[in-house]
Amino acid sequence: MSKKVESVKVAIRCRPMSSGERKDGRLSIVSVDSNRGEISILNAKGDSSEPPKTFTFDCTYGADSIQEQVYSDTGYPIVESVIQGYNGTIFAYGQTGTGKTFTMEGEDNPHENRGIIPRSFEQIFYAVEQNPDTEFLIRVSFLEIYNEEIHDLLSKDAATKLDVKEKADTGFYVKDLNLFIVKGIEEMKEVMISGRKNRHTGQTNMNRDSSRSHSIFSIVIERSGKGADGMNHIRAGKLNLVDLAGSERQSKTGATGDRLKEATNINKSLLTLGNVISALVDGSSTHIPYRDSKLTKLLADSLGGNTKTLMIANIGPADWNYDETISTLRYANRAK
Ligand code: ADP
Ligand code: MG
Repeated sequence: MSKKVESVKVAIRCRPMSSGERKDGRLSIVSVDSNRGEISILNAKGDSSEPPKTFTFDCTYGADSIQEQVYSDTGYPIVESVIQGYNGTIFAYGQTGTGKTFTMEGEDNPHENRGIIPRSFEQIFYAVEQNPDTEFLIRVSFLEIYNEEIHDLLSKDAATKLDVKEKADTGFYVKDLNLFIVKGIEEMKEVMISGRKNRHTGQTNMNRDSSRSHSIFSIVIERSGKGADGMNHIRAGKLNLVDLAGSERQSKTGATGDRLKEATNINKSLLTLGNVISALVDGSSTHIPYRDSKLTKLLADSLGGNTKTLMIANIGPADWNYDETISTLRYANRAK
């Protein structure tokens, strides 16, 4: 009997051609059939001498996809289950420049371009408004993992490295991480923006490359209210919104020294994440290698079990990205 876990979903999103790619006369080698959840990649020359490689996923989105659709298919059900007291995780995976941050955070202008994170705020506070008899406590944290070091993006001193500790009953946690209580959408947005600024400042001051860090925005929702039995019930769910480091192969970039060490750490954590998800999906593995990276330690309570997980793998449409695109689709394929 298959124990295949149905709670891991994989979506693929291909961004539009950039103006630079258009100017350079790049060919689009990606075609998407959203109705069938298919995505096909022509060979790098863009000709039809070889048959295209076709992959199938839970959802596929082409260049004309809109944020609202992506959210309602993918983010909405997970946020709903977090509001009900389950844990959930949404990741954006992919090569740098393919739309991870566009998908997760999006843009404020125009307003339709806001991404999964701000839309989740709206959904959460809508639920709060709709349930006046339930008491909600909503807390958020925002951290970055850079080179296997954890930094609190909501701390005055984001340069401090924090440690991962473990408790027998509740599992892994980050010691001294700020957890802020937020009471509304605007407050939540301010927290997100201040964390984002901190991330940017850290990168500039320490000469870091933004594409090389993972960020995790976590929202913990606790609710208490009377159930059908007239008793008071408390439930808690956690949502992790993760913008992963760029998945591009670092060996090609000729990195040396510290940069090479960073690159090795990124590859290791993305590889571990892939191994964890594939072990969960497979269902027959007795060992889930959470301990192999900080990223997977921190997400351990929100992957597997009765949690919901969504990976959005982002790709570009142009021929010059052929190798990275195929490698992203293969990575995503392992999570099905
Ligand atoms: P990443 O975070 O993966 O490095 P970004 O999210 O920064 O990539 O996206 C790179 C560029 O492509 C940005 O200018 C972004 O606005 C644009 N972009 C990405 N995805 C889309 C999309 N689906 N529609 C329109 N523009 C997009
Ligand atoms: Mg980004």
